[in-house]
Amino acid sequence: MKVEAVRGMTDILPEEAVLWQYVEAEIREAVAIYGYREIRTPIVERAELFARGVGETTDIVHKEMYVFPDKKGQMLALRPEATASVVRAYIEHGLYAKGGVAKLYYLGPMFRYEKPQKGRKRQFHQYGVEALGSLDPALDAEVIDLAWYIMERLGLRREGLFLRLNSIGCPEDRPRFREALREYFLPHREELCPDCKRRLEENPLRILDCKVPTCREVAAGAPRSLDHLCSGCREHFERLLGYLDALGLAHELDPKLVRGLDYYTRTVFELASRDLGAQDALLGGGRYDGLAEALGGPPTPGVGFAGGLERLILVLGEREPPDKCFRLITGPTVYLLPVGEGEVTEALRILAQLRRAGIPADMDYAGRSLRKRLQVASQLGARYALFFGEEERARGAAKVRDLGTGHEEYVPLGELVSYLRGRSRRR
Ligand SMILES: [Zn+2]
Ligand SMILES: [Zn+2]
Repeated sequence: MKVEAVRGMTDILPEEAVLWQYVEAEIREAVAIYGYREIRTPIVERAELFARGVGETTDIVHKEMYVFPDKKGQMLALRPEATASVVRAYIEHGLYAKGGVAKLYYLGPMFRYEKPQKGRKRQFHQYGVEALGSLDPALDAEVIDLAWYIMERLGLRREGLFLRLNSIGCPEDRPRFREALREYFLPHREELCPDCKRRLEENPLRILDCKVPTCREVAAGAPRSLDHLCSGCREHFERLLGYLDALGLAHELDPKLVRGLDYYTRTVFELASRDLGAQDALLGGGRYDGLAEALGGPPTPGVGFAGGLERLILVLGEREPPDKCFRLITGPTVYLLPVGEGEVTEALRILAQLRRAGIPADMDYAGRSLRKRLQVASQLGARYALFFGEEERARGAAKVRDLGTGHEEYVPLGELVSYLRGRSRRR
């Protein structure tokens, strides 16, 4: 019986992996320019981290998280997102002790048990940044500017993107807003989906991001968090809007944007593409000023975003792959053609010598004919064919054929590296 991959867990094959490497390299370079340094946290965490960090009643924790006991019965989870992990690590390693803002980024696989569809997998990949240690709305603006910068580097047009923005206020504003929502939704209770009936009791904010059409209809007239902000939150938001204007970053206020995670406070945003359908968000994020404390650390404000690589690659995959992509494909420069069995040992030595000198080199291991092997050499884009037979062995040389010009000459084995290097410099 054939063993297949688990549903929603996808292989990324070499041809597509080139695009992934390109996108990842661009992201790493972009965030480094903004002063972010990589943090790598484990894929497996205590389930409790996400229950406390992301929120027990969120869909992510409640429905989608992979939870399992280890051999000692400790409940573990495959991370469904990385912010809670990054903040846990920040606290655990006392990164706050250095003072100032800690700027961290991550990139890696996350896991959610969702219905697999185009651009959404059960093992999916996210990149994201977290800036911890400041309440300043200028930091929110920087994080949002970085999000735009990443997209611009990847060649997405500014006009094709738009920023959705909202402020959901601080914990002091929350009870008033929650009450206003409950009062609004209660008379519509019967029109809500079963999940939203539960949300009405647990956390009516969640109703605002329900995707069920009847719920969306009811939610259209719901109270706005922006009308329930305290003066501090209002000022914070207005300063952020001013900074975004100064940076020339267009934005639309979206009162329904609350994001599906409990830890957000104040700023929430999504950067979306006009080229995608209903699921148009390329990345999303916001402020989470209470998260560090909720995880047992010192009170530490923070702001960040996370984006899905699958969706980004879906958008980029529809356009011409950039030249930078192809630079990552290393075909052999040299293709070696040992003529007989007797030459294989020496051929392996020649290959090892070339490769250690940084010259991409390869040969055939499939027992193909000399003619076929020459064809393969040009298919792979090799610049030189190296013939090595009985005669060459006797001379202590290899016959080098330039596959572009057809020019051939014998080169002593000891001089192969300098010969090939010299020729590539002359080109
Ligand atoms: Zn407030
Ligand atoms: Zn609903």
